[in-house]
Amino acid sequence: MDNFDVIIVGGGLAGLTAAIHLRRQNYDVAVFESKPYPHHKVCGEYISNEVKPYLEFLGVSLPQTFQFNEMLLSIEQGKALKANLPMGGFGLSRYTFDHLLYQRALELGVNVFIKSVNSIKFENNKFRVGLESGQEYISKFVIGAYGKRGVLDKGLGRSFIQKKSPWLAVKAHYKLDSFPNNLVAIHNFRGGYGGLSKTESGAVNFCYLVSYDSFKKEKGIADFNQNIIARNPYLNEFLNDAEMLFEQPLTIGQISFHKKKPVENHIIMCGDTAGLIHPLCGNGMAMAIHSAKIASEAINAFFKTGLWNRSQLELEYDTQWKHLFAKRLWMGRQLQAILLNPRLSNLSMGILANSPYIVNKLIKNTHGKIIQS
Ligand SMILES: Cc1cc2nc3c(=O)[nH]c(=O)nc-3n(C[C@H](O)[C@H](O)[C@H](O)COP(=O)(O)OP(=O)(O)OC[C@H]3O[C@@H](n4cnc5c(N)ncnc54)[C@H](O)[C@@H]3O)c2cc1C
Repeated sequence: MDNFDVIIVGGGLAGLTAAIHLRRQNYDVAVFESKPYPHHKVCGEYISNEVKPYLEFLGVSLPQTFQFNEMLLSIEQGKALKANLPMGGFGLSRYTFDHLLYQRALELGVNVFIKSVNSIKFENNKFRVGLESGQEYISKFVIGAYGKRGVLDKGLGRSFIQKKSPWLAVKAHYKLDSFPNNLVAIHNFRGGYGGLSKTESGAVNFCYLVSYDSFKKEKGIADFNQNIIARNPYLNEFLNDAEMLFEQPLTIGQISFHKKKPVENHIIMCGDTAGLIHPLCGNGMAMAIHSAKIASEAINAFFKTGLWNRSQLELEYDTQWKHLFAKRLWMGRQLQAILLNPRLSNLSMGILANSPYIVNKLIKNTHGKIIQS
């Protein structure tokens, strides 16, 4: 049985960030990730600039990317509003971003296993992390960074897993050279909204979130795009002019924005495993990276100072996590109630498209502060 200081389950942004941070402090770290790198992921691929100094501190060199300083918001009827993005962000595909962090983790000596974890048990003050093969790994700490929802949540009996998750998301890259390099566009349609922005390759990422109730009325993605999405004139123009670069769009279902606990069964949850925010209400990627930082700092404080016991570390992480993210996630859940009601959704998007003041407030609240290293 292999022994590690920290085992990280899930090698997405949160898991790899924590691995790099902890490995830099000389801990024995293992990451378990189900899928080989690199791979595409369903995501809007707009990253808030707040993460840049911290990534630099971790020694992650970002490639040349498009910088976004403008946002366009439109509603189905074509009304639109432009706003500046004061902090701004950049466009980087998850294919490249996750791979970049993976390579940095390997360079530092993180043990990365491309294997799925199917159980995490806490006994006698240590963790036993089990794979399908029956093989087990031991560690002092486990960081749960396995994303939005999975079999592990069922095994842990997490309460959100029982609740309905009425959202699905669709994403693909498109070729459309005329799309502005500095713009993030958010377009509303019946039952959802989608984002458009350029990635590092020059491809435009189109990623949308839609309620099942709205999506299931159509026969599939092609029909949904043609009959619902194309009612928004901006999206109609995009779909007519752009050429899809993926063979098939990627989809994910059962997306849950329900409340989760940042620590469960002594596992320190990071990124979406601790809580997923509506993309309209926050930058999930920056939150994933930030949560990995505070988890790594808490674990380091435990080992280095010897002042805390496990419950104090857990309390510290829980408190910090709530302080940083609970308000944004609460806002996201209020938004969910509005977006799931077609009349309220149209009304509220209409109000947004007419209110620069509210849009500016929303932009301010969806971006955090620069993450200090
Ligand atoms: C439609 C949509 C659009 C979005 N757009 C944006 C955006 O534009 N900007 C932004 O900042 N955020 C956006 N987000 C949020 C963002 O995608 C997430 O917050 C971010 O991916 C969280 O990273 P993570 O590391 O927590 O999870 P993930 O990136 O999902 O990583 C989890 C990893 O765990 C692995 N895994 C799962 N189960 C196991 C297991 N049992 N064993 C081993 N490995 C496992 C998975 O393969 C995966 O690689 C969007 C979200 C959605 C749904």
